[in-house]
Parts: sequence; structure tokens; C-alpha cells
Amino acid sequence: MVHNQANTKAFSESAAIDARENELILKTAQLLQLRIAFAVVGLLLALALAFVAAAEYDLRQVVAIAFAVIVYSALAFGFLKTKWLNTVSKIKCFNALLIGFDIVAVTMLVHFTLGFESDLYVLYLLPILLSSYTFSNPGIYATSFFVSMSYVALLLIENIDSLVALSDASLHGGLAGAYFQKLWAKILARSAILVSVSFIWGGFCGYISDLAQQVTRKLREQLAQNEALVAEVRARAARQKLINSINSTLLNTLDLDVILHTAVQELCSALVVPACAIVCPASEEREKPRVCQFIRSAKPAPRLGLSSDNSQFFPEAVCQFLLVHKSHYERDPRGGGINKTFVIDTPEDAEELAEIKQPLSSLRLESLIVQPIIYGDQSEGIILIASQTAQRNWSDSELELVKAVAGQVAVAIENAKLVEQLSKTNESLRQKNLNLDAKNLELCSVQSQLVHQEKMASLGRLVAGIAHELNNPINFVHGNLPYLKEYCQDLKKIIAALEPGDEQERKPLAQLKQELKYDFLVTDLDNILADLTEGTERIRHIIKNLRSFSRLDEAELKDASINEGIESTLKILSQYYGRDKIAAATDFADLPEILCYPGQLNQVWMNLLSNAAEAVAGVTNPLVKISTHLKQNEVLVTISDNGPGIRADVESKIFEPFFTTKPVGQGTGLGLSICHSIVERHGGKIWFESDGVKGTTFRVLLPVKAKCQTSPSEQSEENQRESDLALGYMTRKPVNSGTGKERVD
Ligand code: ADP
Repeated sequence: MVHNQANTKAFSESAAIDARENELILKTAQLLQLRIAFAVVGLLLALALAFVAAAEYDLRQVVAIAFAVIVYSALAFGFLKTKWLNTVSKIKCFNALLIGFDIVAVTMLVHFTLGFESDLYVLYLLPILLSSYTFSNPGIYATSFFVSMSYVALLLIENIDSLVALSDASLHGGLAGAYFQKLWAKILARSAILVSVSFIWGGFCGYISDLAQQVTRKLREQLAQNEALVAEVRARAARQKLINSINSTLLNTLDLDVILHTAVQELCSALVVPACAIVCPASEEREKPRVCQFIRSAKPAPRLGLSSDNSQFFPEAVCQFLLVHKSHYERDPRGGGINKTFVIDTPEDAEELAEIKQPLSSLRLESLIVQPIIYGDQSEGIILIASQTAQRNWSDSELELVKAVAGQVAVAIENAKLVEQLSKTNESLRQKNLNLDAKNLELCSVQSQLVHQEKMASLGRLVAGIAHELNNPINFVHGNLPYLKEYCQDLKKIIAALEPGDEQERKPLAQLKQELKYDFLVTDLDNILADLTEGTERIRHIIKNLRSFSRLDEAELKDASINEGIESTLKILSQYYGRDKIAAATDFADLPEILCYPGQLNQVWMNLLSNAAEAVAGVTNPLVKISTHLKQNEVLVTISDNGPGIRADVESKIFEPFFTTKPVGQGTGLGLSICHSIVERHGGKIWFESDGVKGTTFRVLLPVKAKCQTSPSEQSEENQRESDLALGYMTRKPVNSGTGKERVD
């Protein structure tokens, strides 16, 4: 720290002299006012005496003297205002001159008011009193001496003739001699009284003045102490206010820029400096140091050849240099470190800053404070405080304040670092959470697919089993019906041939025929046979549909017709669709077969059509429209219903697994999610349109050459075999009913 001690001493000395001068001038002015007041009172008294004509002496001289005192006092008053009286000794001489004038005035007053007979000689005490106000004891005694001399001289001059007569021997013993002796005894007595009273009065005034001065000094010291205390308290309050303000900013925000800005701004106004800055080292992301500056007053105009940026007071080079060279701990020999405050007067000329002399010169700094910001053992940056005031003396409390702010800022920077770290950790945790959520969702979806797959596989096996079990008996029935028909015809022919020609012989047969209603029987047998044929035909058709639907687990990609798949699904859903049930309006385009997993696509139509059917339940004139279109290389299937539609608040959820609005036991919430994954697996798209009031339209877009992806739940080969076995596609003989009809295999 470079302190200019000599300057400080000289400054305090000159301040003390100034104060003494001012005090003396003030006292002199007060004395002049007192003189004028005395003279005015004397003048008025003289005028009053003149008015009553009681005076034994010529009052005109008294008036003239009083007037003279007023005039010279007034002139002296004017002179006091001039700049000539600029030293203590000059003011003292001036006072001595005035006292001299006073003594002359009093002497003349005594002379003109009966001389040594005059009682006004007591006025001699006044100049002594006045001198005690501005002079110390030697001055007071000198005044007493001059007062005594003046009076004695006056008496001698006035009575010089009688003194001569006193020495005349002829007058000795006579009346005149006795008179002169008495006169001189009186003169001597008066002189002795005045001289002794003057010195006693002078001593008394000196004592009182000393006493008063001591009291004044004490009071002054007290006052100075009080002022120092008040200044200290004010400084502390300002410091506390600043620290509070930074503290509250620290509490209210975690934004480091805001905290740094508050700190520099408050420091600037607390220290009344033109600019203040906080420089922090570059973080990983930043290449340059973080600089937060506050400029209170306009930056000085740049010197020739130097550029100026009004938003920045300290140039980057200065910040960088000071950060590197002044942000460290000062090692303490006893161990540990000292957080030192660097106070650099006229930094432009400082040797240690020679490297940045040029940028510094543009700032015209008279003083610069560099305060390292230290947290623990680590440097967090520096505070820079610039002063352009000549001979700026930083008080201890100001330097303490800067240090305290550095401490606060260090905590703030450390907090900000922690918060940054925390938010980074949070972000990574959030990311991990999101990944976990995604994985969870994926798992749910796979699980739901597996569950649904298993459900559909079981259903498929059941349907396939039933179809197979029905297939054989119905085949026997259906296959044997033509023979039954033929045999019946044969039997009818035989009965007709056995009809006897004789009327009499035919009678019992005719009677039997009548009893058995042979004609009706023959006709009805044909009807029964026709009904049986139709019935078995229908059963075979149903079985065909069941088999077509139950090809669910076909893992093999094959060309299949979408229209057929939808039709067979509609038939399976005959509990919903059909005569006297929900009207299903189909509009099928002429489509090519598409490469797909037909069983899986059947699941899609099944889910969409059953959802549509359930949606229109309870609607008057329920209608489900199904249409297919060919669009270049894609097939678009549209299934729309006139149900209540899908509410806007659930729209985003309906493809989620396990989301259902149906009552427990009725809905699983898996249908649409399965549809979605199957369609996706085919490289297609599924979406819906609904205004939430009247009806829903589901659309499925499938590529003609499906870019099928492998299903996660693809059936194992074993399952496939089992399924095929159940469906009777493999070389298993149909179960023989045991009727032995060889024609039917
Ligand atoms: P589930 O049918 O078992 O509820 P889905 O996944 O098939 O499961 O359907 C999910 C939900 O989507 C249904 O509960 C229903 O609210 C809604 N939804 C599906 N299709 C329709 C439709 N055609 N009309 C109205 N809502 C529908």
C-alpha cells in the first residue's frame, strides 16, 4: 500500500491553521461589534447628559470620541473582510492595533472628562477585558502595562506644572505647598490603584480566559469526538446498508449477473467514485473473464490515439492484467493467507502496472483499489474501484467496506457455482427419468401387446378348434345330403313301382298313405332336404369365416385381400352387424392384394369395427360406414360411425395402452394400442377424426408392399405349428365321426 504520509500531515496542519485563523477572525469581528455597542451606548449617554445639561465637562469631545470609536470599529470591520488578514500573526497585530486605539480613546475620554478627577478611568479595564478575548496572558499583561502607562502618562502630562511647583522650596510649608502635596499624593494613589487594578484585572481576565479556553477546548474535543463518532456510525450504517442490499439481492435472486451489478452499483454510490467493476475468471464455457462494471459519472474523453467504449470504464487489458496479478492471497509467514487490499495512488505512474500504462493513462485515475475476492483458499476474482479525485484518502472504514463486499460477492459466486452444478445434475437426472419413462412406456406397450397377442392367440386357437370340430361332422352331413336326396328319390321310385295295379289291392296301401299323409311327406321331405342343404351350407360358410379369422398367428408375410379380411371380420361380428342390427355400409374399391400379416390386420379391423359398433349402441339409426381406396401405392381404409365421438380431453390418450372409457369388465384399453403397433409394423399409419359430438372416423393407410418390421411378440415356431395343427392345415386326418361314410373324407 502506498500512503502519502507527508501529504496527509501537511493537509491536517494547514486545516488546523485555517481553523485557527477563522476563529481569530470571528473573535475579532465579535470584539468590533462589542466596541461599536459600547461606543453607541456611550454616545447615547453623552447625548442624554447633554440634554439634561448635568455634565461638568464639555460633552462635545466625549461625543466626538464615541463617534471616532464607532467609525474606526466600522472601518476595521470592513477591513476584516479583505483577504489581507490571511495569517494568524497578521490578525493578532490587527487586534493589538485596535486595542491600542481603544487605550488612546479611553485616555482621551478620561482627559476630556475632568482628567485625573474623572471617574471614567475605570473604562481602562475595558481594553484589558477585550484583549483577554483574543490574546493569551503575555498579551493581556502587555495591555495592562500600556493601560497603566497611558494613565500615568496622562496624569503626569496633565499635572506637570504642579510637579514643578512641588519642587519649588518657597512653596513648602505654605497652603499651596500643602495643596500640591495632597494633589500628588492623590495622583500617586490613583496611579497606584489603576496600575495594581490593571494587573490584577489582567491576571483575572487571563485566568477567566484560560478557564474559558480550557472549557472551550474540552467542548471542542468532545464535539470532534462526537462528530467522529457520528461519522463512524454513518459510515457503519452506509456499510450495513450496502451489505444488507447485497444480502437481500443474494436472497432474492440466484442470478449472478444481478448480484454483481448490485454490488458494483452500491459500492460506487457508497464510496462516491466514478466507476467500479467486478472481474471474475473465465469459466469453462467462457473464453473471456466475466466483467461487471458500473459507471457513475461520464468516462473522461479518450486521449489521442485511444479508443473509447462508453459502456466499459476499465479496458479489457486492464481487467485481464489485474485479475492475473492481483487476485491472489498474500502469504502470511505464520501460515494461511491474508486477503490484502491493494491501494494504488496515481496508477498510471506505478511501476508494478507499467505493462498496462497505456490503457490506464486513458482513465486519468488518481487512485485505484484492487480487492481480491477470495472464497476459502480460492480466488474468485477482483473488485476494481477507480477514483479520479486528486489526493483521495481512503478511510479505514471505506477499505473495510470494500473487503466486506468482496466477502459477500465471494459467497454469491460460490452459490451461483453450486446452483449451476445442481441444475446440471438435475438436468441429467431429469433426462435419465425421461429415459426411464420412455422405457417404462415401451415395456407397458410390449406387455400390452403380449397380453393382447396371447388373448387373440387363445381366441384364435379356440375358434380354430371349434371350426375344426364342426368342420368334420358338418362335412359328413353336407357331403351325405346329395346321397340322401338321391336315396329318397330312389325310395320314391321304388314305392311308385310297388303300387299294385288292382284297385282292391291298392286300397290298403292307399289307406296307409292317407294315414301317413304320404303326399305331404314326399313333398316335405324335399323341403327338409333343401333346408338341410341350405343349413349345412351356412354352417360351412361360418366355419370358413372362423378359419379365415383365426389365422391370427400367421407369422408369414403373404399377399392377402384387405376387402376379404374386412368382410370376414364383419361376419365374425355378426352379433353387432346384420339384419335388424347395426347397418354396415361398405364401399370397397377394387384393390390389389397387399403383402401383409393377414391375421394381424384382421385384428385391426376387428378392434375398429367392434369399437364403432359399441360407440353407436344406443344411437337412433346406427350406421357404420366402411370404405377402401387405392392411392398410388397405398391402401386407405376408412371406418366411420355416427356415435357420440371422442371427447377432446381424451383424444391424446386413446392410443395409450390400458386407456379406456368403458366400464370395468367391458373395456381393456388395449384394442387401439394394438392396432397402432400392428399398423406401424406394416409401415402404415392410423389416425382418427372426431369433433367430439357426432361420430368418429378412423383411417388406416397401408402400403401395398408392406415394409413389415419384425414383431416383438412374433409367435414362436412351436406356437405356429400348434396353431396350424389346430386349424387342420397340416396333414392331420379329419376326425372320423364313426358313421363309416367313405365318400366323405
Ligand atoms: P377399449 O375398447 O377396450 O376401451 P380401445 O383401445 O379399443 O380399448 O379404445 C380406447 C378408447 O377409445 C375407448 O374406451 C373409447 O373411449 C375410445 N374409442 C375407440 N373407438 C371409438 C369410437 N369409434 N367412438 C368413440 N370412442 C371410441
